[in-house]
Amino acid sequence: MNSPDASPATPAAVPRIIPRAEHTISRSHISPNALRVLYRLKDAGYQGFLVGGCVRDLLLGLEPKDFDVATDALPEEVRKLFRNCRLVGRRFRLAHVFFGREIIEVATFRAATAPSPGEEPPEDPDAEDDELPGLDDEGQPDSPEDDEPNGNIDPDYVPPAPAGRGRGRRDRYDPEEDETHRAVDPSGRILRDNVYGTIDQDVWRRDFTANSLYYNIADFSIWDYVDGVADVRAHTLRLIGDPETRFREDPVRMLRAARFEAKLGFTIEPATAAQIGPLRQLLAGVPPARLFDETLKLFLTGHGERSFDALRRRGLLAMLLPTVDAYFTGHPGSLVEKLLRQGLVNTDGRVQADKPVTPTFLFALLLYGPIAGIIEALPPERWHETSTIIDACDKAIRQAQAHITIPKRFSLGVHEMFALQPRLEHPRGRRALRTLEHPRFRAGYDLLLLRAQFGLAPAEMAQWWTRLQEVSPEERGRMADALSTQSAPPGGSGSRRGGRRRRRRPRAAGPAA
Ligand code: ATP
Ligand code: MG
Repeated sequence: MNSPDASPATPAAVPRIIPRAEHTISRSHISPNALRVLYRLKDAGYQGFLVGGCVRDLLLGLEPKDFDVATDALPEEVRKLFRNCRLVGRRFRLAHVFFGREIIEVATFRAATAPSPGEEPPEDPDAEDDELPGLDDEGQPDSPEDDEPNGNIDPDYVPPAPAGRGRGRRDRYDPEEDETHRAVDPSGRILRDNVYGTIDQDVWRRDFTANSLYYNIADFSIWDYVDGVADVRAHTLRLIGDPETRFREDPVRMLRAARFEAKLGFTIEPATAAQIGPLRQLLAGVPPARLFDETLKLFLTGHGERSFDALRRRGLLAMLLPTVDAYFTGHPGSLVEKLLRQGLVNTDGRVQADKPVTPTFLFALLLYGPIAGIIEALPPERWHETSTIIDACDKAIRQAQAHITIPKRFSLGVHEMFALQPRLEHPRGRRALRTLEHPRFRAGYDLLLLRAQFGLAPAEMAQWWTRLQEVSPEERGRMADALSTQSAPPGGSGSRRGGRRRRRRPRAAGPAA
């Protein structure tokens, strides 16, 4: 059995079979649609297993995000069994079985052979670098409607699908999609890996022991090749096989380790954790769009604040968003860090309440420090010019994009949110009412609230905008008119503003440590 400091988990030739009486997974906690798929596979004479995060979560008493099925049926055979089924993946085929909005993904067991050193990379490693879902070739939104109409409420934003497995979308960062056999690059990264296999081979291509459990529909037992049940019970995250090799094969597993640490509160066992420091540089070789996907999973699935801590503790934020990491290293305990944390806490709350969240707001939070740092390096008299703020956003986004893709619709949103800040801090008469109609008003206002909470913007202005939204149109007009005739907003501290020509506060753009 694995113990926290045991040697690497090597899959056994035969599984330990944990009968129904000895585990807690009940069919009443499994999606009825997943059960339908499993039973139909079984009735047709195939093997049918739940696999991956859903088995782990069921054992932990958590509600799984989705249910994935593994089978010995080939994709074409799966398709014949279900009318509501589509094969996805250009090269490697996965079956998606549709039940209204729920999709059950059915994957045929796959073999992953041990990487042989020196194997050549594929002809075109950039071929992986396809467009993101919802974006055209230029990285532009498919349509203007794609944009968030309500600030941080983005009805079109689909939470990231499980790694490399698109939910009804093509995800080209999935090495599994390549139909040729496994290839690794000189650092050991898997570039191609795709041969159908048996369940005992399928275990090898999974990352952590906790993610490698198979729930068998034939007798409701769990098949465990890697002592994964013990690790789940011990809340231990352990890579299958030799950690260095497995991280080299796919450096994203380091980010996944941090994500599961944050999401599940698991402890990364020492041999696995010890490799992250020396190998984290390999993340530089991961396609930037895949890092974007992983970033969303880290920060927009309900445990963003804990992900931030895990990434910093493991030195991974420095690989993902070096300028963000550098800002916080240079400004420990800063107001900007407090703002980011509060923003992440708010976002986690929205996810938990099933409210939509958007990458635009997330990137505004993450890049707040770098943007502030760029502005603060300029002479103070330029801090409040909109052009200064726009230029700083541009620069901060460009620096981040050297590492991770930020699709244009989100980077534009970040610009707009920051460009709105001076207008929100210094509304001018009836123009303020037009600001209310700005498509990014809601997000800009939410950022203003956060800034005000930490003394980075005048609290009375945040209150003024809050009130403006609550009152009747007539009262709004009066509030706006009152602004034109007053040197300070109602309820504001007039002393901050020196007469009609308002003096700008030195922190209008939000910087300050
Ligand atoms: P979540 O709760 O976030 O969905 P998960 O464990 O289900 O967690 P997914 O990204 O949905 O994670 O992937 C499903 C399964 O596929 C994992 O449990 C794991 O077995 C396997 N897997 C996914 N990504 C990788 C990877 N990069 N390397 C190895 N195995 C992976
Ligand atoms: Mg999953």
